[in-house]
Amino acid sequence: MRALRKQAAAPGLTLTDVPVPEPGLGDVRIKVNKVAICGTDLHIYNWDKWAAATIPYPMTIGHEFVGIIDSMGSDVEGFTIGQRVSGEGHIVCGNCRNCRAGREHCCPNTKGIGVNHPGAFADYLIIPAHNVYPLPANLPDDIAALLDPFGNAVHTALSFDLVGEDVLITGAGPIGVMAAAICRHAGARHIVVSDLNDKRLAIAQAMGASVGFNPLTNQLPKIMQNLGMKEGFDIGLEMSGAPAALNSMLEAMNNGGHMGLLGLFADSVSVDLNQAILKNLEITGVYGREMFDTWHKGLAMLQTGLDISPVITHTFAFKDYQQGFDMLNRGEAMKVLLDLD
Ligand code: NAD
Ligand code: ZN
Repeated sequence: MRALRKQAAAPGLTLTDVPVPEPGLGDVRIKVNKVAICGTDLHIYNWDKWAAATIPYPMTIGHEFVGIIDSMGSDVEGFTIGQRVSGEGHIVCGNCRNCRAGREHCCPNTKGIGVNHPGAFADYLIIPAHNVYPLPANLPDDIAALLDPFGNAVHTALSFDLVGEDVLITGAGPIGVMAAAICRHAGARHIVVSDLNDKRLAIAQAMGASVGFNPLTNQLPKIMQNLGMKEGFDIGLEMSGAPAALNSMLEAMNNGGHMGLLGLFADSVSVDLNQAILKNLEITGVYGREMFDTWHKGLAMLQTGLDISPVITHTFAFKDYQQGFDMLNRGEAMKVLLDLD
């Protein structure tokens, strides 16, 4: 089968031919139809500091996928051959305190599909049955391939009561713009999204943001004034991983506001924590997706009118993966799908 792999400690990926893997006990084998490229895949492609410290090789990458179950371990129950599924990209241990308390997203022994477990950028993917998520028939493959990053946005946004609230989202990457759509769907009032890239801000607005805001050319207090906001933001969703964005959020929050931090920072960050203290802010770190309430709620919203399709800007054949990675590296694409059929 084809597998897109990191083969050596250097930038780039190689499309190789490897044996089709056999599912073990408890495993499900999925014939992959479509995958999407995540920022994590880009880090691995570029072989940055994080990737070099994290990724064993050879390693098939990728964790955003949709496919059809084609084989299962003899003990697996509850699934059928031919069933269309996606799956949770975090494989948890099931034995630690958090797992046994039903907080699997907090498992300290988490393994990542396409990070340190063979990934989905291949004709066949094997994952534990526990990670497999069945899909409603009316959910298009293109959207189903995005459920993992969509789940990051759902998990972050739905960590807070959004109804009637004013929300600041820093970072209009795929996750930030999907979060804007979720906040709109869930009943937020003003949703301000910031990014340095105006094309991305336009997509955020197309997906439900009240206004897109570029800190290079505009000032947040001015935007708030134009919206008629008299106090700061009730909710802040940090989705850029940029220290400047985090600091601007701390400044713009209302007293008693709630912040969810999803964006990963490349280095340690300097912030004025007195802002958080004096404003009684609640600041929450957000990792992954809640298993599996995030999946349930996300799919429920997609089935009741939430549209995240504008986040998909490009689709390439699997063999043309290089074009997708190049476009993402040049900042020209938002979400890129690769079609394995
Ligand atoms: P992305 O890199 O495509 O988006 C980040 C956006 O932030 C970019 O559009 C960039 O232009 C923008 N940005 C940079 N500096 C900014 C600034 N000063 N102000 C406002 N915007 C700025 O990433 P993504 O795929 O949308 O993911 C968002 C973040 O979440 C990334 O940091 C990613 O590493 C992280 N992430 C975390 C988890 C988790 O479980 N915590 C999961 C997935 C991704
Ligand atoms: Zn665990």
